[in-house]
Amino acid sequence: MSRAVFLYAAGDARVAPFNLREGAPGETLLDVAAVGLCGSDLHYYKDGGIGAASIVEPFVPGHEFGGWLTEDLPELGLARGALVAVDPNHACGHCEHCHAGHPNLCPNVAFIGAPPHHGAMTERIWVPKSLIVPVPQDFTPTDAVMLEPLGVAIHAVDLAKPKLLERVALIGCGPIGLLILQVLKSVGAGEILACDPLPHRRALALKLGATRAGASVDDIAEWTQGEGLPLVIEATNAPEGFRDAVRAARIGGRVVLVGIPDGDTYVLPASEARRRGLSIKFSRRMGHVYPRAIELVALGKVDVNAVVSHRFSLEEGPDAFRRLAVNEPGMVKSIIYPSGQSARG
Ligand SMILES: [Zn+2]
Ligand SMILES: [Zn+2]
Repeated sequence: MSRAVFLYAAGDARVAPFNLREGAPGETLLDVAAVGLCGSDLHYYKDGGIGAASIVEPFVPGHEFGGWLTEDLPELGLARGALVAVDPNHACGHCEHCHAGHPNLCPNVAFIGAPPHHGAMTERIWVPKSLIVPVPQDFTPTDAVMLEPLGVAIHAVDLAKPKLLERVALIGCGPIGLLILQVLKSVGAGEILACDPLPHRRALALKLGATRAGASVDDIAEWTQGEGLPLVIEATNAPEGFRDAVRAARIGGRVVLVGIPDGDTYVLPASEARRRGLSIKFSRRMGHVYPRAIELVALGKVDVNAVVSHRFSLEEGPDAFRRLAVNEPGMVKSIIYPSGQSARG
């Protein structure tokens, strides 16, 4: 019997025995090497769900993960023991959105780690072979995990379409915001004015290339003499994230919303958005971005490890949720290592 971190309800995470299900045709079994604790996982912990997707019975979270193959996969040129990443977005492949190249918008998706589909905060997991993403074998399990959040960041920047040297406001410097920041740098964005209420996250934003980092959007307003910036990317978990993004935007500007607000609700005075005539996009997961995510990491253009602050064993998983939920100082990205190894030679 293996073990897993289960979310039973809001505020209730426990490690318990987990009955590994039978594999289905086309699936392969992975030893989970590492699994990230995402802001969306935290929403299930804090709110018991995200909108209509709620915890009905205990479920195992974890959609950002890498693992070791337990069998040879010659069709992918991979041998048993190889480290791989997994795209958790199991889209149907048949609907108009899948056909249009937007698997992230597939309404029939089976997303690994979102209820009712158990995720990877466990020792072993069956995954469709079609979702296996081969990675360079000098990648660490942490690198493999971080490809998924990095993919979210790449997708957000794709939607934002920053112009060369365009100035950007970044609302929120959590793991996703800090990855967006690095992707923005790599595509040639100009000055990046960031804000986040947590001092350690502001410090990290400055280290990773933000021009300035303030405690609130008021700082960005002040630095731009109240004019705001032409492009704003929001990556917070706050109901005020949308409002702050709007306030940081220049008249006629573009706003991309990436974050998931606590309580599934935005707080926004309509006039602030309307009077600026803003163009607003909602970013939803990601499209086909893994090859670029791998390349950014392999070339060292994005430092995913700079964002990782805490490492936990599986047994410590509930503790990781609890500490992140109270915004413990110093916490940015947490990774859980179910095998107890943070690397394997
Ligand atoms: Zn995630
Ligand atoms: Zn589909």
